[in-house]
Amino acid sequence: MAEIRIEALTKSFGDFTAVAGSNFTIRDGEFFVMLGPSGCGKTTTLRMIAGLEMPTSGRILLDGEDVTFNRASQRDIAFVFQLFALYPHMNVRQNISFPLRVQGVSRREVRARTEEVAKMLEIDNLLSRRVSGLAAGDRQRVALGRAIVRRAKAFLMDEPLGALDAEFRDRMCEELRLLHDRIGATTVYVTHDQIEAMAMADRICVMNKGEVLQIGVPMEVYERPATRFVAGFIGSPSMNFLPAQGGFQAGATAIRVNGASLAMPQAREGLAATDAVLGARPEHITIADEGPLRGRVFAVEYMGARQLVTVDTDAGRLRVRAPNTVRAKTGETVGLTFDAERLVVFDPVSDRAVR
Ligand code: ATP
Repeated sequence: MAEIRIEALTKSFGDFTAVAGSNFTIRDGEFFVMLGPSGCGKTTTLRMIAGLEMPTSGRILLDGEDVTFNRASQRDIAFVFQLFALYPHMNVRQNISFPLRVQGVSRREVRARTEEVAKMLEIDNLLSRRVSGLAAGDRQRVALGRAIVRRAKAFLMDEPLGALDAEFRDRMCEELRLLHDRIGATTVYVTHDQIEAMAMADRICVMNKGEVLQIGVPMEVYERPATRFVAGFIGSPSMNFLPAQGGFQAGATAIRVNGASLAMPQAREGLAATDAVLGARPEHITIADEGPLRGRVFAVEYMGARQLVTVDTDAGRLRVRAPNTVRAKTGETVGLTFDAERLVVFDPVSDRAVR
């Protein structure tokens, strides 16, 4: 078990800053997901935690102990690279026990721990089978077994499901999460896939361009994104952004889009009479005959229980997720109403959400 504390952690490669002064704490037993686009510094952060990369400055504390310059082998942290690169010529037992044999653990303990892990993953009946002949799902369990047999203080995983097709990914997400709940070890999981992050994380850390933008439980980063980048990166289809103006109306702050006033429920300081960017998720806009913002239906995509309606307004193109009971026809003029409670307003200069 381990708490991992990151203090002012920075990594530069020449002039390029890959990680720019991160500060956060990964709690003991937490499933912590680092999310962001390619090149944002997730892997570099993970490699510094593992001891595979030395920071330019800052500190890493493992259960309060400064391990910043400890070697990887002195950290008791398991780095899971590709979950699925098994040794095809070995059997299940040999694959699972490999990390222990490398460590020089006694034969008796290797045997006991391998069998314990196999039982936990319900593959104990396959121990003498070659992995090359196994079904894909069983192979993945073997890979998981090999990853956890070391009983490290923490597990670091870098896009471990990256190479899998969609169906297996879903299954493995579920298995990984269940396994984590059972063994309870601190896990840091890197992905660029927001759906995976939302499904698995206790907390998500969103990064972009070397900076940590927000850390929160999935619902928090979805409902209360700290910046425009976070808002746009999380959620599919993406949040709509519209140019807007802040103002006051009947004593409350209001926001106007194209002259149409959308009253805001809570007063938002810093919003009065300034330019702003309004963020509205597709499911927080309602289509009807009338509404404060009018537009023309550009396209309707049927999605089973729901439909995705694209509407062109004078303020820009919007995507609306509506129930199928709502009639929307291409070319028709409709009215749009916004769920004021759920709107997010961004400062157009800093891109930060105005609370
Ligand atoms: P990806 O998912 O593509 O791996 P990432 O968020 O994990 O993205 P990093 O691998 O941490 O990103 O890389 C962050 C930036 O640092 C990238 O622009 C990368 O090119 C750069 N970088 C990483 N390692 C080195 C290195 N050894 N030398 C120079 N630049 C590097």
